[in-house]
Amino acid sequence: MAQKKVALACSVCGSRNYTIAASPNRTVRLEVNKYCKYCGKYTLHRETR
Ligand SMILES: [Zn+2]
Repeated sequence: MAQKKVALACSVCGSRNYTIAASPNRTVRLEVNKYCKYCGKYTLHRETR
């Protein structure tokens, strides 16, 4: 059984910098400030599928 994963993509440059385990019961889109090495700063990262 494969675990579902979602990527967190930088909202500025679109790079998928992080992957997290998806929780099936969560319905809201995750938005979190994380460091983007391409932008060189902390940017808003959004969940993608
Ligand atoms: Zn970026």
